[in-house]
Amino acid sequence: MARIRFKNVRHAYPPPKGQEPVYALKEINQVWEDGGAYALLGPSGCGKTTLLNIISGLLTPSEGEILFDGVDVTSQSIAARQIAQVFQFPVVYDTMTVYDNLAFPLRNRKMNESLVKERVEQIADMLDLTTSLKKRAANLTADGKQKISLGRGLVRSDVNAILFDEPLTVIDPHLKWQLRSKLKELHQQIGMTMIYVTHDQVEALTFADKVVVMYDGTVVQVGTPVELFNHPKHTFVGYFIGSPGMNVIPCTVDNGQPVFAKNPLPIAQPVNKDLSGKLEVGVRPEFIDFADEGIPVNIEKVEDLGRYQVLTLKHEQETIKMVLNEDQTIPSENPKIQFNPEQTRVYCDGWVVEEAAHD
Ligand code: ADP
Ligand code: MG
Repeated sequence: MARIRFKNVRHAYPPPKGQEPVYALKEINQVWEDGGAYALLGPSGCGKTTLLNIISGLLTPSEGEILFDGVDVTSQSIAARQIAQVFQFPVVYDTMTVYDNLAFPLRNRKMNESLVKERVEQIADMLDLTTSLKKRAANLTADGKQKISLGRGLVRSDVNAILFDEPLTVIDPHLKWQLRSKLKELHQQIGMTMIYVTHDQVEALTFADKVVVMYDGTVVQVGTPVELFNHPKHTFVGYFIGSPGMNVIPCTVDNGQPVFAKNPLPIAQPVNKDLSGKLEVGVRPEFIDFADEGIPVNIEKVEDLGRYQVLTLKHEQETIKMVLNEDQTIPSENPKIQFNPEQTRVYCDGWVVEEAAHD
């Protein structure tokens, strides 16, 4: 197992003739601790698979280095890196039995047959494949085949890390939930470094201790699910995590205090006064309340989602989402809202503005 470090990693795929290269990864500097459960979360096309392939060695980065426990592996072969990788779609040997498929990575490394058996049975049990062990892989459903792929990734115990690239894409929703909990359980049992790529926030937040949020070829924030929810460093993180995501509305800053459409917004601490760039205020729908004084709004829509309600509000041109518990009431006339000052943040060109230094 290994601590994985990226040092100034950038990657551009070969551009079409005569065109400038476009960087799929812009600049990655990261340290991922040995034994961690990481999720790489971001929208399609942001560079997740590229980053994963650089770890496993399927791809050599255009620039920068990748180190395992301080050793530069940038030019090492896939085999030398000792990485298990599970892809989005099943990779199985159709003509072999499920047992032989699972045993393959172990036999390849000349493991003793009795140890192979022990390990294969253990993994098969975990993935509910025990009764299928004698079947040919070709006879399994898409779900079953992907379970074999997962099993082949998990079967070795001598790897530096296991990489999963959206492995549950082809799995049906109920089984998805089960497998995700199994992976998490397994991580807790064996403590192997696991890196799990997904574009689904629920998947990322339930699997990982640390979520690495990617956007447009860069890592915008690494944090626990709670940190990402409470302290989004970038408007993208606020917007992408949470359902509905954080409200991001235009503002000006007057003497360290944000002002939204002539409404001064109380915040916990004044922010830096000299800001230049696009200024916005971010506040999550959960941190807005109705109040006697505040920003007047029109209520456009109320969605009842059982334990809570999602309200769509309008102030002038701006749409604001608000979440209320089922027992909270909606004012019948002149509704006004307030943002929780502790949870109201100012962003400049997408990045959170730190509080002004105290004198
Ligand atoms: P993700 O896994 O987050 O969806 P990828 O790492 O697959 O993102 O892709 C990142 C960017 O690199 C995208 O713009 C994609 O079009 C581009 N890209 C990916 N693979 C190749 C390739 N083999 N050749 C050229 N461009 C590629
Ligand atoms: Mg991908």
